[in-house]
Amino acid sequence: MSTRRTFLKQGGLLAGASLLPMHHIMAEVMGIEAGEMKPLRRNVGIYMERGGTIGWMIDKEGVIVIDTQFPDQAKNLIGKIKEKTDRQVDLLINTHHHGDHSGGNIAFKGFVKQIVAHTNSKFHQERVAKERGTLEKNLLPDTTYDTNWSKKIGGETVSLHYFGAGHTSGDTLIHLENANVVHMGDLMFNHRMPNIDAVAGASIKNWIKLLKQARRTFDKDTLYIFGHAGQGFEVTGSAADLKEMEIYLKKLLKYVKKEQKKGTSLEQLKEKTELIPKAEDWQGGRFKNVNLQVAWDELKQA
Ligand SMILES: [Zn+2]
Repeated sequence: MSTRRTFLKQGGLLAGASLLPMHHIMAEVMGIEAGEMKPLRRNVGIYMERGGTIGWMIDKEGVIVIDTQFPDQAKNLIGKIKEKTDRQVDLLINTHHHGDHSGGNIAFKGFVKQIVAHTNSKFHQERVAKERGTLEKNLLPDTTYDTNWSKKIGGETVSLHYFGAGHTSGDTLIHLENANVVHMGDLMFNHRMPNIDAVAGASIKNWIKLLKQARRTFDKDTLYIFGHAGQGFEVTGSAADLKEMEIYLKKLLKYVKKEQKKGTSLEQLKEKTELIPKAEDWQGGRFKNVNLQVAWDELKQA
């Protein structure tokens, strides 16, 4: 146990370290090199530097990009796309509003035909940018949808699904149907305690339902892309990984509920908790207290 704890603490340090070479961090965390256009299936792949995992589809008649990390990373990605095609980006999709997924949109100005996100995602992108006084540094979606949205791009059909609140109130599941790849955005933190953005309307209870709905909507062959992963875990996986995330969220609620019944205060709970009991393989880090806080508030409201 002590070895594991040490490992986890080092993991926490690594995630925030800027002195270590990027490729060292990425290789350990993701199984993908920083700056690599890693192919997955057909013409679909992922790109990773700093921030949420980017998805891409490039063929002769169309280019799709899913999420943009930050401006510098997005510029590097555009360089990589230009090595593969003369086309501009036909469609850019934001899985949700967070800066590590949509902050790089601005780099695509003049290089993208259409940007789509869920209505709530656009709302929060605009809200946060106004709060920070950075609206002119953002490139917002020009298209929004509420439940479903679909378009044919090159040889691929891309379908957007909204299953309600989860990590935020505006998370899109993106199905590249022919490749049968689904980008989950931050609805999937693979074996890492997730950020849960209550200010932006997150819901742990609905997140559990939503993951189940995803497993029912897509099939056994579906390959999933995850927004983030814990150290030593991959940013792609299967329905079994979605199931594990459901179980983690259930364990979180169960643990907090039990502690509330025992009369533990929220402060005591934050103080004494390092990992969630029976979910110790879900690595902690900076969102541990957020997990406890949001679970606490949701259960008190119920
Ligand atoms: Zn996020």
